[in-house]
Amino acid sequence: MPQPSHRIRSLLGGDADGWTVFYRARRMKDDGVPVLELTIGEHDIGTDAAILDEMHRAAHAGHTGYAAVPGIPALRDRIAERLAEATGLPMARDNVLVTPGGQAGLFAAHHAALDEGQTGLLIDPYYTTYPGTIRAVGGRPVPVAAHPEHGFQPRADDIARAARQTEARSLLINSPNNPTGAVYGAETLDGIARMAEEHDLWVISDEVYDSQVWSGRHLPFAGRPGMAERTLTVGSMSKSHAMTGSRLGWVAGPAGVIEDMIQLATHTTYGVAGFIQEAALYALELGPKAERDVAAPFRRRRDLLMARLGGQQVLRAVPPEGAMYVMVDIRGTGMTGTGFAEALLDEMQVAVMPGESFGAAAAGHVRVALTLPDETFETAIDRLVSFAAACAEAA
Ligand code: PMP
Repeated sequence: MPQPSHRIRSLLGGDADGWTVFYRARRMKDDGVPVLELTIGEHDIGTDAAILDEMHRAAHAGHTGYAAVPGIPALRDRIAERLAEATGLPMARDNVLVTPGGQAGLFAAHHAALDEGQTGLLIDPYYTTYPGTIRAVGGRPVPVAAHPEHGFQPRADDIARAARQTEARSLLINSPNNPTGAVYGAETLDGIARMAEEHDLWVISDEVYDSQVWSGRHLPFAGRPGMAERTLTVGSMSKSHAMTGSRLGWVAGPAGVIEDMIQLATHTTYGVAGFIQEAALYALELGPKAERDVAAPFRRRRDLLMARLGGQQVLRAVPPEGAMYVMVDIRGTGMTGTGFAEALLDEMQVAVMPGESFGAAAAGHVRVALTLPDETFETAIDRLVSFAAACAEAA
């Protein structure tokens, strides 16, 4: 029998895939257990009806054939305009490739940045697919820890050391951050920029949470002085417009490398459905108010959870500045993140993600997704807090 390639076999690098609690929670739900799920980054609302109407209209108007591989011109223009507004840089259609979701953008960007065996740095804690995405293009993922005592902001010196030791070619950053909620400030970004220049790195900047900022301001990395030529910015409609299932994202960068990535798209995805692209264009035309409306419940629940944590001693959290999660430090219970998440699911029917799913730097934490309607969310966090108190007492 032919064997699957070494590359596909080693995608997870021997790590657990980090989704065990999530899959178990889903099985329990299928078996009728009323699990309260605060696991994946999926809104509790669906895509807005007006966007769906546009999808329907576009499909009936004939946008069901092969669409232009790089993306339809009007959508590429609109995305370029959005990025130009955010960065103050001239951006045009040629700087944008539309991809089936931000995930495909991350893959394309790493494919463009790394040759076989080269190191791609990433900040730990990280979104779970990051190391596998780097391995998928033949690269070697090397995490650089960002610590809770620094508010999960990465340190340029730590990145520089790792870049030197591994001869890294790329650095993947994510602000607003999943899972930590950190929003990188000017000082962090400029430190990274200096170091990227010194080590001649590509910076792959995952900005899919750019519409979810609770304090401070989102600063696009490409907008830092001199960075546009080495930055590949990944964006998506998933989080900003509750369009996770539509699979519409992009990667933006210098026109030459975008041209190369268009070749990759031709040989992998062959583009994104035309009716989805038309709907995405319509959604972007709705402007920032529509994005604020989608984000508002997460801000509210973030405040609810932080207020609830203020009234107790066992659980702690660095207040998230953005994104739809809170990283809760559960070390006061004496348990590991995985042990706590497993027990919380069994005893309280509340599912959260173990910190360890997001890298070594997130050990002793659990990630709480802010993704249940307010009332159910409050029930879930009451259970979380009382369970932690009971664990701490028993310890
Ligand atoms: N980056 C981050 C940080 C994410 O959290 C996600 C999805 N959870 C993605 C990228 C991928 O999003 P999508 O492919 O749906 O655009």
